[in-house]
Amino acid sequence: MTAIAVLGSTNMDLVAYVARAPERGETVTGTEFRTIPGGKGANQAIAAARAGGDVLMIGAVGDDAYGVRLRAELEHAGVETDLLHTAEGPSGTAHIVVDDTGGNAIVVIPGANGTVHTLGPGEMAAIAEADLLLLQLELPLSAVVEGARMAHAQGVRTILTPSPVQPLPDELFGNVDLLIPNEHEAAALSGKTEPHAAAEILLRHVPEVVITLGSKGCLYAARGSETVHFPAPEVTAVDTTGAGDTFVGALAVALGEGRAVPEALAWASIAAALCVQKPGASTSMPYRSEIDAA
Ligand code: ATP
Repeated sequence: MTAIAVLGSTNMDLVAYVARAPERGETVTGTEFRTIPGGKGANQAIAAARAGGDVLMIGAVGDDAYGVRLRAELEHAGVETDLLHTAEGPSGTAHIVVDDTGGNAIVVIPGANGTVHTLGPGEMAAIAEADLLLLQLELPLSAVVEGARMAHAQGVRTILTPSPVQPLPDELFGNVDLLIPNEHEAAALSGKTEPHAAAEILLRHVPEVVITLGSKGCLYAARGSETVHFPAPEVTAVDTTGAGDTFVGALAVALGEGRAVPEALAWASIAAALCVQKPGASTSMPYRSEIDAA
């Protein structure tokens, strides 16, 4: 089994559904409220575990009821949580208003995620023993940089999802083996809206890039080789939430198993296409048997 360490966030998504989002100073009555476990780190961990990885989560939840539920959700998916610390104070939360066009507005409060500034010896050892390290940008940048540097020095392959997108320091770029931005993140990081052009710029910083293009699939670029477009399977999308995290989690498992990049990308695309056909984020992430069957 591929040993995957995820250094990332856990958030409780607090979702209010409304016909129309309120203007400043206005109160509107919504139709429904849901609490949904999320956070890009936890979502990628669950996706990788369901895809058949041996996954360990590094990060923090708060000492509140959300923290208990976030941890339980990961454990239920088979993710090891010994290095998911319980910090004093609230868990991370994402306050989401979804209107009836499907549009949303989101406030994220990092909570416990914001306490993960540095890594201890236990985290360092766990990263060193992994085959791959998955990183995103919902923890303090200092911890992300430290994790990437540590992994890279130990020959552990590092995969970064640059979300939420922000300028990246060279010390992070220099320790990333594979960067997986979506189209918008690739444009923001490269200054180029056309994906081939964006990939070319990003290859100056990292050796391999996969730009995900939603229903259009993804673009794979590596230094010294031709850039290749992989189409996504044609499916009817019901809810694309979590598609990106499913793609990354499944790709990590396949690469860790030593599969060639084209085969790994095809497999991850099938996993993500299964995810978009069901509502929800982590609840719609497919199990290995489903990916293989599809
Ligand atoms: P999200 O934020 O919705 O999780 P993202 O913006 O991080 O996603 P996308 O580029 O939208 O990432 O999607 C990631 C991958 O999911 C795509 O590369 C593709 O393989 C798959 N995917 C997304 N939308 C569709 C769709 N409508 N049909 C088939 N596959 C899809």
